[in-house]
Amino acid sequence: MASQTSSNSNNFVLDMVSDVCRVEGFNVEKNVQADDSGDHFVDIIASRTTGKKIQKVAFECWEGDRQVNGREVEGFVNRLKSAGLSSGIYVSPKGFTGDAEFIARKLGVELWDLAKLKERVEKIKPPEQQKVPGTLPVSRTVASRILAYGLENGSVLRLTSMPKLEFRPYFFADFTLNHGKKRKAKGVIVFDGVDGRECDAGLFEGELKNLPGSGLFVDCLEIESSTGSMPHLPPELEMKNTVTVAPAGVAEDSIRAHTGEIIGRESGAHPDDISVSDIKLLHIPIVTAELVALGRSYRKILQAATSKVIWDETRKCNLCDKATQAICEECGKVVCHEHTRLCSSCRKHLCTECVTTKGVINKSPLCHSCKK
Ligand SMILES: [Zn+2]
Ligand SMILES: [Zn+2]
Ligand SMILES: [Zn+2]
Repeated sequence: MASQTSSNSNNFVLDMVSDVCRVEGFNVEKNVQADDSGDHFVDIIASRTTGKKIQKVAFECWEGDRQVNGREVEGFVNRLKSAGLSSGIYVSPKGFTGDAEFIARKLGVELWDLAKLKERVEKIKPPEQQKVPGTLPVSRTVASRILAYGLENGSVLRLTSMPKLEFRPYFFADFTLNHGKKRKAKGVIVFDGVDGRECDAGLFEGELKNLPGSGLFVDCLEIESSTGSMPHLPPELEMKNTVTVAPAGVAEDSIRAHTGEIIGRESGAHPDDISVSDIKLLHIPIVTAELVALGRSYRKILQAATSKVIWDETRKCNLCDKATQAICEECGKVVCHEHTRLCSSCRKHLCTECVTTKGVINKSPLCHSCKK
């Protein structure tokens, strides 16, 4: 996995170690200054909070062709001290000299050679190898939906980190509603498999009024699911480092009962007239992306099998509640048509709060830099 994407970069070891740390729940900072002098750096500082404790581990990643020696291990320990860190791991796929091992033991730092590193990487592979029943592939249009979607100057938005991809379980419960011997309706209700929440519903035939449907998930039924391992992701979304599979937390029996209750409630039918025929578990890819424009951040969540937007903070004007048209290139607010102005000189998009004007009669809108 990581080795495929990084083998041709110079930071092969650094990237691999970062992957390992992230999968194990650490926050990763790269190339961190160790002290105030400005010339001592630590390659990676990984930190993770468990309860009230913050665990911090520093990594030195050697990318060179020879073994790391004792002097280098010592140097690393000194940088750790100046950064006030107590645990450190020196990673060198080419291994360590004898005195390096001796010094590491003496000063209490851990050494990872290629075997050790591989062992760690193998550990984080399970999400990819694991057989996930009924897993839907990620749609190729997801990348364009995440970035620059629906705004005139959407390219001002930047991803703050790699989008997160989660394969989340959903139950699709097929139901039939009869009246005596006559079939009245047939459809499906979709439940979140983690918390049992009702997410969507659809009718295949007949009529049933208040069936709660968001339309966000039902169309997933039309996609061929993959039976093997994790489906391939579009190459634009190199999210291999951030893929997780959420475990189902609800039993099929309770989904069955819940489906019966919902249909009963909405139709007023006798329980004997309602049957739940089939319950299918599907893992649907959900992508969460954090975007930023001039210091303002926006979150987007997509049902990534058919690229439907579940949540999008860039869709509502920051100054009123209307649908947005553009991002202000001075303050980063997303604004609607009424709150958008164009700088008459440089054509930058501005919000009504950031625009200035020039002239008395024909007030022409200008951005701050064009007014100077
Ligand atoms: Zn507005
Ligand atoms: Zn503005
Ligand atoms: Zn301008």
